[in-house]
Amino acid sequence: MQGLMQDWPLLCHTILDHAARVHGEQEIVTRSIEGPITRSTFRTVRHNALRVAQALARDGHSVSDRVATLAWNTDKHMEVWYGAMGIGGIYHTLNPRLFPEQIAWIINHAEDSILFTDLTFVPIVAAIADKIPSVRKVVVLTDEANMPQTEFGAVSYEAFLDGTDGDYVWTKVDENSASGMCYTSGTTGNPKGVVYSHRSNVLHSMMATPLDSLGFAANETVLPIVPMFHANAWGIAHAAPMNGTKMVMPGAGMDGESVFELLSTEKITFSAAVPTVWLGLLQYLEETGKDLPDLKRVVIGGSACPRFMTETLEGKYGVEVRHAWGMTEMSPLGSLGALKPKYSGLPMSEQLDIKEKQGFAPYGVEMKITDDEDNEQPWDGETFGRLKVRGPAVASGYYGGDGVEQFDEDGWFDTGDVAHIDPQGYMQITDRSKDVIKSGGEWISSIELENLAAAHPDLVEAAVIGIAHPKWDERPLLVVIPKEGKSPSKEDILGFMDGKIAKWWMPDDVAFVEEIPHTATGKIQKTTLREQFADYTLPTA
Ligand code: AMP
Repeated sequence: MQGLMQDWPLLCHTILDHAARVHGEQEIVTRSIEGPITRSTFRTVRHNALRVAQALARDGHSVSDRVATLAWNTDKHMEVWYGAMGIGGIYHTLNPRLFPEQIAWIINHAEDSILFTDLTFVPIVAAIADKIPSVRKVVVLTDEANMPQTEFGAVSYEAFLDGTDGDYVWTKVDENSASGMCYTSGTTGNPKGVVYSHRSNVLHSMMATPLDSLGFAANETVLPIVPMFHANAWGIAHAAPMNGTKMVMPGAGMDGESVFELLSTEKITFSAAVPTVWLGLLQYLEETGKDLPDLKRVVIGGSACPRFMTETLEGKYGVEVRHAWGMTEMSPLGSLGALKPKYSGLPMSEQLDIKEKQGFAPYGVEMKITDDEDNEQPWDGETFGRLKVRGPAVASGYYGGDGVEQFDEDGWFDTGDVAHIDPQGYMQITDRSKDVIKSGGEWISSIELENLAAAHPDLVEAAVIGIAHPKWDERPLLVVIPKEGKSPSKEDILGFMDGKIAKWWMPDDVAFVEEIPHTATGKIQKTTLREQFADYTLPTA
């Protein structure tokens, strides 16, 4: 027997329609690229998104066309996303932190038909304008008064929307049609295109909503510091309007002072960003002696959240830290580290042990860990394995058929991460499969060593890579940046780590550097670091 329920397609425009109808006055506040703080509402954003759709249709764009954005988090960027989806098109975020040639490569691979950009990135577009033949128009997200002269004939957002009135009916497409695109950061090889559907985005927003997840509600105010170009905005651009959550968009201001200003003036209740952003905020708070009275919760992910960060935010500032793991390929939520009730009475240090893990999967994410022969491994909190996932918001392939080897016939996607899972379902990433250090046939987790070393009071950052070793195959080298004015010795640092890890995990050497290379999404770039230390000989070799 079939169920007798309506087949109501899960289309992204329904989210914005709902927001405008039920939470129409709810605000979207933006630190505009031109400078001033501007205030809009879900009702206005929907109206402008309809105008974007109308203008795109006027210019001949239609179903399945890729609409590229190279832009900060602003209300206008939201309008373009929803306008693009509204014609049955596909928003395609570009990461401005990539090299211009990489950006051009991605635009050409996706064959974007139009590009929306911010004033900040006009020079990047100028550098690639003659190398992206599929792009028929460039729109700068500003008004006529602020519009610069460009050699590539860009128009302002104001001019682009001129003559539209929002009298447009969203184009109806199948819920499995593409709605968004984001390329992986491509730390190895070329970036690969992830293609979200309307259905996956709607379901993912529902997965992001519960309190144990990101936690959206009409009485919350979210500051999405994570850029919309990083892994589908961590779902916030859909989940906030779905729940009528007030949005505060930081524009280009991600430094400690700018973030603090918005946190306090807009009384932000929760926020999401990579660890580096929180590092900047903590430094600012320490320097100024300021406090965080309104902030209840921060979601930290993208790379491992260091223990001291959780300890400081929770212990000193009373802000709950929600450690999260995810991937562009997972829309991106994979797991979140809310504390289960059985742990709430534990002393702080034991709670921190749990919060160092990346947390448990929300409904909609299935996980398993396997050995190299694809045998499933137990959830005992110790046995490492390749982390594989599946679910309605997990990629089933890459655009153009790239990377087929990461997907198997049972629908499991090999994340490329190495992890263990404990009996309570808390997963802990121990490495990228390419970064794990193979010493004498056993695996050493580079991330665990990095977290431990980074807790040393005289260090800013730590990275661990495997260096070739004649006897053990590989041994760990610890690369560190000391804090300004501090010069800890190698013995100091190794002494600090001694007793906290197995003896054979201890790095064979410590290298002091001024800088550790990072990817465009803030992760330590191990490939570059390995190149830098390619000729390094360990004292034990
Ligand atoms: P991206 O698609 O750029 O967000 O990168 C996804 C990758 O970032 C994952 O496969 C992990 O290797 C890494 N990652 C994300 N969140 C975390 C986390 N909380 N801890 C450790 N690694 C993480």
